Amino acid sequence: MTPESRIYIAGHRGLVGSAIHRELRRLGYANILTRTRDELDLLNTNAVNDFFATERPEYVFLAAAKVGGILANNTYPADFIHDNLILQTNIIEASRINNVSRLLFLGSSCIYPKLAPQPMPESSLLTGPLEPTNRPYALAKIAGIEMCWSYNRQHKTKYLAAMPTNLYGPGDNYDLANSHVLPALIRKTAEAVEKNSPTVTVWGTGTPRRELLYSDDLAQACVFLMNLDDTRYNSLLNETDPPLINIGTGEDVTIRELAETVAEVIGFKGDLVFDATKPDGTPRKLMDVTRLHNLGWHHTTSLEQGIRKTWDLIHDTLATKA
Ligand code: GDP
Repeated sequence: MTPESRIYIAGHRGLVGSAIHRELRRLGYANILTRTRDELDLLNTNAVNDFFATERPEYVFLAAAKVGGILANNTYPADFIHDNLILQTNIIEASRINNVSRLLFLGSSCIYPKLAPQPMPESSLLTGPLEPTNRPYALAKIAGIEMCWSYNRQHKTKYLAAMPTNLYGPGDNYDLANSHVLPALIRKTAEAVEKNSPTVTVWGTGTPRRELLYSDDLAQACVFLMNLDDTRYNSLLNETDPPLINIGTGEDVTIRELAETVAEVIGFKGDLVFDATKPDGTPRKLMDVTRLHNLGWHHTTSLEQGIRKTWDLIHDTLATKA
């Protein structure tokens, strides 16, 4: 990308897209294209085609998706598979018609089998059954990877699929019923401090291990990949493997360690109580990031720094909700 390149971020208001938007602005890119949902309905094929024909983006970050926690996935499985298949198909096809130079398709680690080896390498794609609760979402994302690969072979496009590990950051969902562990712990801990409560209740045993990546680090990795020189970029697009790369830290922590770090950052001095009646979920979820590390990218924000930055950015809004 050059400073003048026309860059479209689909989904620029989400956790991932907003971080990519901030990063591109920080780096001084002058022609960033964005549209809100009201301005452009990504489920409308004609509207997407018109947008691409008029704006002619050269680079596309496909960060738009219907996402949600286990509850939303269970309640609206049809929406998850339908909306994701349609919107990603619309953007991938419009990118082909309008000769987009490079496209980065964002997904998540749930595309890998439930019992994938840990850490999970890209080669574990389609080697076993998926976690049933988010299968409609995961299958749509897998179809998107397959589309990128097929288009590259048939149409000589340069589409790459990037699968981030669990993300966190300021644009996250802090709703206790639906959120992931880190925003939930931040919220619970903040409320305990505010209400002078002696304990914070953590779900499960505290022993499962999770890998977490700060959303700004993910955005840096996405821009790094988009800007790879042709030789290194093309090495990810060989014909024998899907054009797939994991993005993560390569490090994980226990839920107990995570809760302790949150307590430290927020200044909670009480006790952590582990509620073993709540599910632990999978014992470990860690990406194999050898491919990314071999290209020369490493995350820079430590977990404690990331939690601190997130907390600094959100604590006013959380306080008003508590
Ligand atoms: P997962 O990574 O798909 O399993 O999803 P989560 O981020 O929701 O949960 C990860 C781990 O954090 C599980 O072992 C949960 O039991 C544990 N956990 C501890 N406290 C909480 C909480 O308040 N909310 C959530 N969502 N998970 C929690």
